[in-house]
Amino acid sequence: MTGIDITGQRFGRLVAVELIPKEERTWSNKERAWRCKCDCGNEVIVRQRSLRGARMTQSCGCVRKMEAFLATNGVKGLDREYLEGFDDFNKFLFLHKAIRATIGIELMSLEEYKDYISYFYNDFQFNAVYNFWKKQERTNTFYDWAKPSLDHIIPWSRGGKHNKENLHFLTVFENLAKRDMTMEEWTEFKRTTTTMSDYFIEQIMEVM
Ligand SMILES: [Zn+2]
Repeated sequence: MTGIDITGQRFGRLVAVELIPKEERTWSNKERAWRCKCDCGNEVIVRQRSLRGARMTQSCGCVRKMEAFLATNGVKGLDREYLEGFDDFNKFLFLHKAIRATIGIELMSLEEYKDYISYFYNDFQFNAVYNFWKKQERTNTFYDWAKPSLDHIIPWSRGGKHNKENLHFLTVFENLAKRDMTMEEWTEFKRTTTTMSDYFIEQIMEVM
């Protein structure tokens, strides 16, 4: 039983990817454990007996996180099934917070809410900035300047609306620098002053 290979087997939302080699087992009794990929996108190391025992581990912890989210998120009618549909739950959570902070979700219908989420979840520019930020997070002390920030293409203060076509993600750094310029004015400003930064969107897109 202990020597079995469970590679590829599913345990709830977890799929066993590989056995942790003996020399990498840092826990005291060196018992067998598996690197598992969770449906939410996380990777976790789980002891073999926790996967196969009576009180089985069924997720990386995201199920509990989802239940907490459902109890407190303020969007009426969201269910577990919807949340389980995301291949990266943390990315979903990030978008939820950004939309709540910039647009507000209290007056939104469920359809409208889901429309915003799926639009940005699959948006090329959002994913470029998000991945840039995640990479910076691992290597750079100032990574928070790279955090994706929802920007109005035509600024709110100048009549721009919350419709998704008027919204896109820039880094916090670029969004602060742009202030209340339109995207056109900002692009022109960058060109005429030859202002450049790794945190500006054209740089991020180019590196991709
Ligand atoms: Zn998970």
